[in-house]
Amino acid sequence: MSRAQLCQPRGGRCRVRAMACLAAVARTARVAGSLIGSPKYPGQMLEVGETGKESFDSRLRREAMAWLTVRTNDGEEWLTREDIQDFSLDGEPRRLQATQTGIWKPRDLSAALSIQTVYRAPGKERPYNDEVGSDQLLRYAWRGDDAEHADNRALRSAMEQKLPLIWFFGVGMGPAVFQPIFPVYLLWEEPELKQFVIDPNVGRGLVSEGSPLEEPLRRYLMVETKRRLHQPVFRSTVLRAYRSRCAVCSLAHKELLDAAHIVPDSSELGIASVVNGMALCKIHHAAFDAHILGIRPDFVVEIREDILAEVDGPMLKHGIQARHGQRLMELPQNRREYPSRQLLESAYMSFRSA
Ligand SMILES: [Zn+2]
Repeated sequence: MSRAQLCQPRGGRCRVRAMACLAAVARTARVAGSLIGSPKYPGQMLEVGETGKESFDSRLRREAMAWLTVRTNDGEEWLTREDIQDFSLDGEPRRLQATQTGIWKPRDLSAALSIQTVYRAPGKERPYNDEVGSDQLLRYAWRGDDAEHADNRALRSAMEQKLPLIWFFGVGMGPAVFQPIFPVYLLWEEPELKQFVIDPNVGRGLVSEGSPLEEPLRRYLMVETKRRLHQPVFRSTVLRAYRSRCAVCSLAHKELLDAAHIVPDSSELGIASVVNGMALCKIHHAAFDAHILGIRPDFVVEIREDILAEVDGPMLKHGIQARHGQRLMELPQNRREYPSRQLLESAYMSFRSA
C-alpha cells in the first residue's frame, strides 16, 4: 500500500507528509532494532543463531504468515476455521489458532503464536475485551484473572521476546470466519487492567510505556490502527454479511465491491459496526457518497431528481435510474446485521438536503 493511501478514505492531504515522516522514523527504529537477515514482511523479525540457522520458532511464524498472505489473497479474503487448519510445515499439519480460548501456544514453541477475537453479531456482548485506549493503542485482555495462567504466560513470553503474533479477528459466524491480522506485537502489559497493549506494528520504537504521546503520533497510530485492523475487519464483516453482493444491484464480483459506511465513521474510535455498513459496488458506493443515490430507512432506493431527468447511456439508464423506487436487492441473512434504520435515516436526510 502506498504512503498516499494512508489517509484514505477520509483523511486530508496535509496529514500525509507528517505521517510519512513518522513512518520513516518507525522504519528506521525497526531496522536499527533487532532485525537480522532479510525479512519478508514489514516488521518481521528473524532470529538467527550463531550457526546462521533460523530458529524453528521464527521459521514457523514466518511460514505461517507467508501462507496466510497467499490464502487471504493479501488480506482481501477471510478464512474459515477449517481453512486455517490447512496449514502445514515440513509435511506436518500445524495448528495456528486456538479452538476455543483466544490465545494459542503450540507445545513446541516457547511463546504464543496467535490470539483470536470471536465474532459477535451486533447487540451481543463480545467475549473478549479488545479495545482502543485513549492513546489509540489496542488492548487484548488476559485469559481470566490469573496472571500466571499458562495462556497469559505465553503472551507475556511473546512480548518479552518481541515475537510477531497473528490476530485472528472474527468477522462472521456459522461457519466462523476470521480476518487474520499480522504481524502484531505486544508492547507492554497493564496488570491492573488485566490486559496487554498491542502494537499496530508501525509504532515499534515510537512508543514506550508511560511516556505521553504527542498529538501527531496519536493521530498516526489512529490512522494506522484503522488501516491495519479496522478497515480489513469492517470490509470482511460487511461483505460476508451481504454474501459478497451489492445491496443495490446484487453484483457479485468481490473486486468490484466496497464495504460502504452509511454514516461516515466520524467518531474514529472502535471498530465500525456492520450495522453502519452495506456492501455496494463501486458505482453505487460512489453514487451513494455523492448523494446521487439515497436509501430510505425502509430499504427503498431513490435517485436524485435531476439525475432521473438525464438522458444518457446504459449505465445511467439501467445501472442508476432503473433502481429508483426499488427495494434493496441484498440484505444480511441475520437481522441483527441489517443496516441500522437510524443511521439510514440520518444518511437519507443528508441525501434529501443535498
Ligand atoms: Zn451495485
